[in-house]
Amino acid sequence: MLNVQNPDCLFCRIVRGEIPAKIIYKDEKCVAFYDIDPQAPIHFLVIPKVHISSCGEINGANSLVVSHCFEVITKVTKELGITDFRVVSNCGPQAGQSVPHLHFHVLAGRDMTWPPG
Ligand code: AMP
Ligand code: ZN
Repeated sequence: MLNVQNPDCLFCRIVRGEIPAKIIYKDEKCVAFYDIDPQAPIHFLVIPKVHISSCGEINGANSLVVSHCFEVITKVTKELGITDFRVVSNCGPQAGQSVPHLHFHVLAGRDMTWPPG
């Protein structure tokens, strides 16, 4: 299950090292890398290595990797010295998802509004 990859998926290609990325952290289950088009002074993504198309596809068989992504968010933010940050996962095009591989945006370093636009 955890080795399932999608050959044409952009983020699966980053996992396989076929596309370069500014990787902050990686382990056997997930990768964290800086967003190519940052929306805040600090903006990185945490993704599972396994291809899950969105947070609308999380289930009992794959949710351990999702909790692991959140452990990594805590670890990386602490290492970067960030105490205030926002975690976002866009699900579906109407919500702004452009890459169909589950990812968690982590944004920090500026004031943020609520509700989001
Ligand atoms: P979303 O629009 O929520 O699906 O988020 C996808 C994110 O991936 C966007 O913030 C993009 O800027 C980012 N992105 C797209 N291609 C790359 C890439 N090659 N390296 C890093 N981030 C990327
Ligand atoms: Zn993928």
